[in-house]
Amino acid sequence: MRDIVLLGSTGSIGTQTLEVIDVHRDQFRVVGLSAGGGNLDLLVEQAQVFAPDVVAVPTPSAAAALHGRLPRHTAIWSGPDASQRLAALPCDVVLNAITGAAGLEPTLAALAAGNSLALANKESLVIGGALVTSAAAPGQIIAVDSEHSAFAQALRAGRADEVRRLVLTASGGPFRGRSRAELAHVTPEQALAHPTWNMGRTITINSSTLINKGLELLEAALLYGVSLDAIEVVVHPSSDVHSMVEFHDGSTIAQCSPPDMKLPIALALNWPERLPGVCRGFDWSRPITWSFEPLDSEAFPAVELARRCGHAGGTAPAVYNAANEVCVDAFCAGRLSFLGIVDTVAAVVDEHLAGAAAAVLSVEVVLAADAWARRRAAELIGGAA
Ligand code: NDP
Repeated sequence: MRDIVLLGSTGSIGTQTLEVIDVHRDQFRVVGLSAGGGNLDLLVEQAQVFAPDVVAVPTPSAAAALHGRLPRHTAIWSGPDASQRLAALPCDVVLNAITGAAGLEPTLAALAAGNSLALANKESLVIGGALVTSAAAPGQIIAVDSEHSAFAQALRAGRADEVRRLVLTASGGPFRGRSRAELAHVTPEQALAHPTWNMGRTITINSSTLINKGLELLEAALLYGVSLDAIEVVVHPSSDVHSMVEFHDGSTIAQCSPPDMKLPIALALNWPERLPGVCRGFDWSRPITWSFEPLDSEAFPAVELARRCGHAGGTAPAVYNAANEVCVDAFCAGRLSFLGIVDTVAAVVDEHLAGAAAAVLSVEVVLAADAWARRRAAELIGGAA
């Protein structure tokens, strides 16, 4: 029996994690749930079904609204550090499915407590960089992102010193094939209609700009110790091949399944063992065509911008992420154009790199860079509006 703490339980990854656990109640016990307080009815429902020891929310008002609605033994923790405290609860696996930079301190807390960290919140790894990797014991972080789970599975096929490069697949998002000029007037509704994955709002917009692929590029380099230039992004529209590892003899090992996040979630919860029957396989009795194409970096410059941030290191990835979070909110609110998202992130990154970008990271330094980037992005958006 594994004890699980789930951070971000009401989101897309959070609810799918609970669906996996529900089918395997004999193997997993939910000991803690946390959420942002945006959907308290769902959080109450989850607590009633899984009867955790603790439910954590960031504000006293959310905590007050939970009183009297949870199982009798369930404690309510509140405060901005509630998820962080929950992540340090002794357990087998902390699955961090909070969205955005808010996941950094919970990630560090889970690692410091010696818990295995199933990481969906790639932002915490990307912005924390060496701060997070140096806090992790070998194998302590297990990827939930489907691409990085694919790498972990494919890497089992050879030794680390046999790896030539990682091939990171990208669906290309809803605007694949469009030129930069054709992207000028796309709307949030169009950007939210992802062709293959059903995800939370931020990651869906990030998939349409390819910012998500930029974050994943940085995530892959940090997780698997592979240089950024040995990671290639390839567009694969159907999202069946989740990513590939090319070994130095020229052999490429791919991990494939119909797109279903429950697969990498289940593997992360039960790592290194697989759980049976998590998702269907392919139907090989019908013709299947998989296609791959190079990324159009002119229309979608976000990946190369991320690569530049990765090479710069220090706080540059934190600035990339934070500026983007502000731009996504502005785009969804109709205050910024689609192209304005990555253009603004690039402008903030350029300013940051031209100034005194910190090379040595601490939580304070990362959060200060994050706050600066948010302010600067908001100023630039305000000026453009
Ligand atoms: P959602 O927006 O659907 O869910 C985010 C979750 O985080 C919600 O439960 C939200 O609570 C909670 N949350 C937000 N702020 C806080 C906070 N301060 N403290 C505690 N909880 C908080 O996002 P997704 O599930 O789509 O994504 C989660 C993470 O997983 C992201 O990092 C994303 O990049 C990554 N990921 C997602 C994939 C997907 O398929 N969705 C695939 C691969 C990675 P509430 O809504 O109740 O306020």
